[in-house]
Amino acid sequence: MEDCIFCRIVAEEIPCSKVYEDDLVLAFHDVNPAAPTHVLVIPKKHFTDITTLSAGDMKYVAAAISVIQQIARELELDSGFRVVVNTGSEAGQTVPHLHFHLLGGRKMEWPPG
Ligand code: 5GP
Ligand code: ZN
Repeated sequence: MEDCIFCRIVAEEIPCSKVYEDDLVLAFHDVNPAAPTHVLVIPKKHFTDITTLSAGDMKYVAAAISVIQQIARELELDSGFRVVVNTGSEAGQTVPHLHFHLLGGRKMEWPPG
């Protein structure tokens, strides 16, 4: 997906502030943070959103959750954090490459806007 921003970040064509990387996932700081901690965790393989994941792709989801667990521990988000996966335009998804927002460091409101 050569015109996908996040695929280009994976390919190192666009720089990012990297937090973690392995064979399956990449984590980096959001360029426009919505909280004191705002990390994006993305599969290195392109999926538009969660609706296009097949059973064999769930290893990417497991890897992402595992990385979120690890980053939350390292960044000491002990009092709580939020994981958000915006899916589709009505939910506010702006980048059509599956990503998990890890947000923390402030009190969160519920329900989200
Ligand atoms: P969405 O709105 O699709 O759920 O989230 C996309 C997120 O990607 C937004 O929070 C936005 O700030 C972030 N973002 C968009 N382009 C870039 C980029 O080039 N680099 C980084 N680090 N974050 C980006
Ligand atoms: Zn992509």
